[in-house]
Amino acid sequence: MKTLTLKKARERSVLRKHPWIFSGAVSIVNSDPQNGDEVIVQDSDGKHIAIALYCPFSNIRARVWDWDSSRKISKDTIGEKIHNAILLRKNLSFDSKVNAIRLIFAESDGLPGLIVDQYSDWIVIQILTAGMEKWKAEIIESIVEITGITNIYERSDVDVRTLEGLPERTGVLRGKEPPELIEIQEYDLKYYVDIRKGQKTGFYLDQRENRQKLRSYSKNKSALNCFSYSGGFSLNAERGGSEIVLSVDSSADALRLANKNTILNGLNDNKFGWLEADVFHQLRKFRDENTRFDLIILDPPKFAPTIIQVPKAARAYKDINLLALKLLNKNGILFTFSCSGGVAMDLFQKIIADAALDADADVKILEKLHQSADHPVSINFPEGEYLKGLICQKQ
Ligand code: SAH
Repeated sequence: MKTLTLKKARERSVLRKHPWIFSGAVSIVNSDPQNGDEVIVQDSDGKHIAIALYCPFSNIRARVWDWDSSRKISKDTIGEKIHNAILLRKNLSFDSKVNAIRLIFAESDGLPGLIVDQYSDWIVIQILTAGMEKWKAEIIESIVEITGITNIYERSDVDVRTLEGLPERTGVLRGKEPPELIEIQEYDLKYYVDIRKGQKTGFYLDQRENRQKLRSYSKNKSALNCFSYSGGFSLNAERGGSEIVLSVDSSADALRLANKNTILNGLNDNKFGWLEADVFHQLRKFRDENTRFDLIILDPPKFAPTIIQVPKAARAYKDINLLALKLLNKNGILFTFSCSGGVAMDLFQKIIADAALDADADVKILEKLHQSADHPVSINFPEGEYLKGLICQKQ
């Protein structure tokens, strides 16, 4: 039997059902498990506590598959977990109002390293771990059986795969080659999504509810949407009554898509401005030109992909937030986000507080924001909570 025994001094977090077993917590590995193999996890007294998927290369040496060590990974147990994950989404309030949704969110759904997103009648999957890679065929079978969707595309082009000894891969897994753009519905707006080349699996589903929330702060505002991607927040600002919406992104492809999205929704072209620029530079330019706004959205990419980058990321977050606070008119609203897992809400709030001090701005937090509920957070896996945001008002 392939087993992995924990060190007495390091077993606490696993006993508290945290699903990651770090290399430093392992005392003995028996029977030479290979990358992606199942192993029985035992505590320091030899008691079986879980069944996990092993990776000899990663600092996360194993990821728990089930806390019942007799529940081996199989087509049936995979199907059961996928079924439960999809059922959870069916009960979410927005399920009937959108057709693009995250169906499986990895560890949070008990499927470590597996992301599955639905975009209308297409499914995009992303596999991040060797354990899941081994069971790809069964995963695909189960998804087709449970959803009835037969077009499945893979977007495993993420560099974390190299930590697990896996190459990057994209392409059709089932069904047809996807069209260039897929049309999705998010409440009363439609978006084009490029599942083959777009960012992430094509769209930032995690911001769905926050885009909705923006509407109630948008009436009669001049809005600036920084890091706009395909225009999600921009379109919602307009829907909420903003008079002008200027959007900034460094990706010309993203801006082209955003422009198509305004046309798709029949929105008034004159209200929108699309600027291909680096936000760090552009905010300084606005400052120097004395351009001011009533509403600013800052939704940057992940500045700290790992914990090591947190100090540098903190400086970058502070920089853009300080500039944004300076650019806001009196009573202006800032929607500011961080999707870096290593930057927790309390740290993020401190960073904004530092920015406010340096900007000499009196700032109030009106609301705190999180990722959408189709990206749930398992209570034993706080790392699953990665997106945090603040709605602030400058007095
Ligand atoms: N708010 C968007 C998602 C933003 S993702 C939504 O709801 O869909 C982050 C975006 O930042 C990406 O589109 C990326 O192209 C852009 N980006 C990354 N670095 C940038 C920079 N320095 N300046 C401008 N845009 C940048």
